[in-house]
Amino acid sequence: MEEIKITRAAKLKEKPDSSTLVFGKNMTDHMFIVDYDEGKGWHDPRIVPYGPLQIDPAAKVLHYAEEIFEGLKAYRTADGSIQLFRPDCNIERMNNSAERMCLPQIPAELAMAGITELVKLERDWVPTEKDTSLYIRPFMIGLDPALGVHASHHVQFIVIVCPVGAYYPEGLAPVKIYVEQEDVRAVKGGTGMAKTGGNYAASLRAGDRAEKAGYSQVLWLDGVHRKYIEEVGAMNVMFKINGKILTPDLNGSVLPGVTRRSCIQLLKDWGYEVEERRISAEELFQAAKNGTMEEAWGTGTAAVVSPIGELAEGDEKVIISGNKIGPVTQRLYDELTGIQWGRLPDTHGWTVKVC
Ligand SMILES: *Cc1c(COP(=O)(O)O)cnc(C)c1O
Repeated sequence: MEEIKITRAAKLKEKPDSSTLVFGKNMTDHMFIVDYDEGKGWHDPRIVPYGPLQIDPAAKVLHYAEEIFEGLKAYRTADGSIQLFRPDCNIERMNNSAERMCLPQIPAELAMAGITELVKLERDWVPTEKDTSLYIRPFMIGLDPALGVHASHHVQFIVIVCPVGAYYPEGLAPVKIYVEQEDVRAVKGGTGMAKTGGNYAASLRAGDRAEKAGYSQVLWLDGVHRKYIEEVGAMNVMFKINGKILTPDLNGSVLPGVTRRSCIQLLKDWGYEVEERRISAEELFQAAKNGTMEEAWGTGTAAVVSPIGELAEGDEKVIISGNKIGPVTQRLYDELTGIQWGRLPDTHGWTVKVC
């Protein structure tokens, strides 16, 4: 692998106070960039001062959303070292997203080096307060300056990072969600399994409407039958019904979350039966009404788990787990955050020390 060339920023920014951090707003001093050109492959890996990109107004990413991204975090442990959580899963998923979007595969070693060298250089930006972390956003964009609809030959892989505060400064509060009837996030054969910007653009309207109606997120239904649930907002979703854990299977329109995968592993370790299958919204409401719905939660890197306290569809509303976080949701949160911040033993070998 080519050596990463580092150009340091002439002037470093003042580090923000951890208590005032707003998610995704406080970018650090540097970013990682590597170019890809067809015939030449990946070349010129570099860390440069953080700043605006110069791209051609006709670049494909701006018109045809030729973009994929990832999201992971660097955690500071009690002894001051910094570690990542399952970065190999993020890189593997990025290459699966790349395959779907006609972007080139990036060697895992190169992506990993870009992430770890940037985190090392920005180590002082990894906050130390409880539940804070450094959010890492790798992304890949198609840059060919031409309006024809084709896959790009010139691509960049970029990594930017920013410190983020505690997701739950006031403790894990359950959220209210409703079943989205009109918009769909993804369909089988579409791009639902890829972490690509367009999926998010398509989800904004429903998210906005949910917020206006007093809900924090929507529960997405499948795009074909409009019957089976898929995800909650931009998180995977799980239910505990009659002692069993249920989660939608990875059918092509569900994003394969790293948190989802980790939760399933932990739940199985703890002896729970986990069913990955089609789940209708109707089944959920029935379970809530007949008293077998015990807990519901979303899973994702940002929140880890997000308890669901209320579920609505049309005029119908059900309360889950007394609108409080349930014991399994809490245990998943404690176990995962314990491993991520190095407070609990990492028996699965999920963490990777950076420095
Ligand atoms: C990123 C993402 C998730 C969660 O994935 P994690 O790897 O657990 O962070 C779930 N759903 C969607 C749509 C996503 O984009």
